[in-house]
Amino acid sequence: MNIILLGPPGAGKGTQAKLLQERYHVGQIATGDMLRAEVKAGTELGAIAKSVMEAGGLVSDDLIINMLRKRLAQDDCRHGFILDGFPRTVPQAEALDAMLAAEKQDLRAVILLKVDEDVLVERIAGRFSCAQCGAGYHDKMHPTAQAGVCDKCGSTEFIRRPDDNPVTVKQRFTAYNQQTAPIVPYYQGRNIYYEVDGMADMDDVTIAIEAALRKAGIPAPVAMSAD
Ligand code: AMP
Repeated sequence: MNIILLGPPGAGKGTQAKLLQERYHVGQIATGDMLRAEVKAGTELGAIAKSVMEAGGLVSDDLIINMLRKRLAQDDCRHGFILDGFPRTVPQAEALDAMLAAEKQDLRAVILLKVDEDVLVERIAGRFSCAQCGAGYHDKMHPTAQAGVCDKCGSTEFIRRPDDNPVTVKQRFTAYNQQTAPIVPYYQGRNIYYEVDGMADMDDVTIAIEAALRKAGIPAPVAMSAD
């Protein structure tokens, strides 16, 4: 199954994509995470991406499409992928269609997470993640069970994204509205396009996404019992 999660910054794409990856056993591809890894590793691409990301803009289509092409060739994407943060422009959407057509594959579902902008601002302002395992948290909506300790791995180190500051967030919304929102009509006419209320509780959003996937002909995998 090849699926795309669409939505503005803070809509919950990353959180939901991680849950779906664990449940459906397909590759999760978050282009933002890939770029942050390039920045951290100090690569040439990372150096170019850093200033663009800090300004809340979009990295050029050529660079992103090349990066994605290599990623799709990796083993964990053999049985499908969940894309989070790609495509972000119409040329990226067209390039993805061309890549899939060349491999005789297709998109099974494009799911838009719809969330009001004031809610997005609140979500982004409070989010942080574990520096060790990447588990995501929120100051108000999803704090760690024990203050300062990661629920998943016990680490006491946490990070906040540098581009989650109010000035950059505003630019990211502008980039979304001007460059990314136009890809919604690109997919809307196809019978693979679904909208999900991203304002609901995290679990309800997952349930709604799974319902959309069922409609797209992708049943939820049966959970394996431990014995
Ligand atoms: P994200 O983690 O998806 O919010 O992405 C963080 C930043 O990485 C974005 O604000 C962009 O600067 C850059 N980025 C991520 N994915 C893309 C993409 N598909 N096209 C262009 N820039 C991207």
